[in-house]
Amino acid sequence: MRKLIWGIVEFREHELPQYAAHFRDLAGGQSPDTLFITCADSRVVPNLLVSTDPGELFTMRNVGNLVPPATADGLSTGDLSEASAIEYSVKVLKVANIVVCGHSGCGAMKAVLAPAPLDDAPNLAAWLAHARPAVSRLALETAPAAGLTLSDRLSQLNVLVQRDNLMTYPDVRTAIENGVLRLSAWWFDIAKGDMYAWQDDTHSFAVIDRPMAQRLTGGE
Ligand SMILES: [Zn+2]
Repeated sequence: MRKLIWGIVEFREHELPQYAAHFRDLAGGQSPDTLFITCADSRVVPNLLVSTDPGELFTMRNVGNLVPPATADGLSTGDLSEASAIEYSVKVLKVANIVVCGHSGCGAMKAVLAPAPLDDAPNLAAWLAHARPAVSRLALETAPAAGLTLSDRLSQLNVLVQRDNLMTYPDVRTAIENGVLRLSAWWFDIAKGDMYAWQDDTHSFAVIDRPMAQRLTGGE
């Protein structure tokens, strides 16, 4: 806590001056471009990794970057928090993108694969059930993914499952059908510092370097 308290003072005295005008502008409201869904893991730092300023990312984080699917009526089958973030960002903020981002070394994915049940963490055990479909996809794979541990491969498949779960929300489906919303599945390799994007055409994750960025953005 000492580090956090003195971090506030550091921000006030050294960083705030360059952000002051920006924060004053933001005080009246936000207009983020993207809902960024990722794990609560301390090593995943969205604003740092995508070089965004305050006001640019609407972020929803939880253990394992999970999105419980919705019923046909659009109601969450899990925690209401995720569904609320989706509704608010899509219907009110009208974000143009939703990114689901997993990461290497994810404790949630390791827990899902662990043979012993999480008897001493019943809430966590119930929550991680939303990652079970990713385990089923992992079991269908005929060859191990090159250079990845089992839990890292599960983590990659998990972002695809959670991206699919987003499609169970009527608001998301409607926005996509109207061409005003795009879904992306990303995966962050902590040791390398590389971000990967799922490619629907090649059915693989590819690192987002300059050539890939040009491809993804049409050369912008
Ligand atoms: Zn994680």
